[in-house]
Amino acid sequence: MKIMANRMDRGFFRYQKEFEDKALEVLRSGWYVLGNEVKSFEEEFAAYTGSRYCVGLASGLDALWIAFRVLGIGPGDEVLVQGNTYIASVMGITMNGATPIFVEPDEYFNMDTAKLEEKITERTKAILAVHLYGQASKMDTISDLAKKYNLKLVEDCAQSHGARFDGQMTGTFGDVGCFSFYPSKNIGAFGDGGAVVLKDKKLAEDFRIFRNYGSEKRYYNKLVGANSRLDELQAGLLRVRLRHTEECERERCRIAERYLKELKNPKLLLPGVREGATAVWHQFVIRTSRREELIAYLNEREIGTIIHYPIPPHLSEAYQGLGYGRGSFPITEQYADEVLSIPMYNGMTEEEQTCVIEALNSF
Ligand SMILES: *Cc1c(COP(=O)(O)O)cnc(C)c1O
Repeated sequence: MKIMANRMDRGFFRYQKEFEDKALEVLRSGWYVLGNEVKSFEEEFAAYTGSRYCVGLASGLDALWIAFRVLGIGPGDEVLVQGNTYIASVMGITMNGATPIFVEPDEYFNMDTAKLEEKITERTKAILAVHLYGQASKMDTISDLAKKYNLKLVEDCAQSHGARFDGQMTGTFGDVGCFSFYPSKNIGAFGDGGAVVLKDKKLAEDFRIFRNYGSEKRYYNKLVGANSRLDELQAGLLRVRLRHTEECERERCRIAERYLKELKNPKLLLPGVREGATAVWHQFVIRTSRREELIAYLNEREIGTIIHYPIPPHLSEAYQGLGYGRGSFPITEQYADEVLSIPMYNGMTEEEQTCVIEALNSF
């Protein structure tokens, strides 16, 4: 049985009729950008996260860089972020000319908050909390430090739709929560999409103006903005996704629970969940010092895996200019060498999971 690391088609076919009806409805409406679907999605997504406002944007990266832009963070400013994140988190900072300051991760793959305060300088302006792989970061400590040092708090929720810390939804702790709806995310569009959620009305207005060439009123431009709009088709399809998100989340939790219960191989380190945090299992990430061997072993059995991520941002060619090298962030680098995401997707069958579990246990 061939098993892929991810199957986006399964998530489509389960609700095929609803998606197709909505697509036709939007196509036949004659209105394709900034209309009722976007407006309704923004309201529904704000309600889902428990925040006041939502502004739809073109991608998760746009949500991040525009967030720092409207918060006034730029050259000379430092932003604290975990070293082991997807490179887009870092680009959101550097696209504004600000400097990322990397913090090592803890055992839950998120920012080690015990190492956060020592990184704060007079140039520090913000913390970017990433909820990697779908598990909430330690938001009590992060929020306290942001308040204590008067720092902006931005959350990268591209992998954490629905994850909570102390019962509160990720994305609602700080100034701005940034979401991606890239097709492989837990709430995925059928193309690119993103959004921010926030509680401040004025800030929400800043995002609305910025995403539309800096114009509040057509052809009257207040500032140099961007073209970063969630389109009507994606917004409509995301509304269908949103109707089923709790069911999909429960399914991912069931799959994760079974992995945690039935994977028994001392060569593999299984992921843990922090006290107070919930995980929505965007990825199920194991660690092993024998990764190459394991990947080959699984490949022979036609089981796909993905490494999230093989090269940490500070070692990527794109960030040579920051001046880091091997050894700068040893834990981040160790994770990059050891992590492996095993098959996890909505619509995964019991047989498929049994096959993955048997293969992993016999390695
Ligand atoms: C996917 C992702 C992004 C970027 O989102 P896009 O919509 O692909 O631009 C940012 N941060 C993290 C952690 C992500 O996983």
